[in-house]
Amino acid sequence: MTDNKSEPLFGARPEDRPLTDAERTLLEWLIAHGSREAQQYAPQASQVRVVATCTCGCPTIDVAAGDRDHRTVGGSLVIADFEGVTPEGIEVGVILHVRQDQLPELEVYAMPDGDGPFGLPTIESLRQSPLS
Ligand SMILES: [Zn+2]
Repeated sequence: MTDNKSEPLFGARPEDRPLTDAERTLLEWLIAHGSREAQQYAPQASQVRVVATCTCGCPTIDVAAGDRDHRTVGGSLVIADFEGVTPEGIEVGVILHVRQDQLPELEVYAMPDGDGPFGLPTIESLRQSPLS
């Protein structure tokens, strides 16, 4: 992943704050509607804090539970994969995955790649990704 130096770096800006109401609502919805494995992460989802936000204009957040202050690395398992539409009318994908039994990130990306900034999709617009 280091051989493409002309690509702008995916930027993550460190933060330390509780989830906003919108972020928490989306996270809890994804847990409730995700894969069978997703349910077991509900307690953790209720405890996570935001530890970083993306700088590209998308609403992707890195999260951590307890006193971890950085995201985990390593292989991951997707527990929720949905599509939705933001209040700006942008179609986005939302992916929630776990890594080493931790929720490291709530990823939101535009489809097709769109320019930020854009917000979280509305709950009413969410539907299962056809690819999952
Ligand atoms: Zn981003």
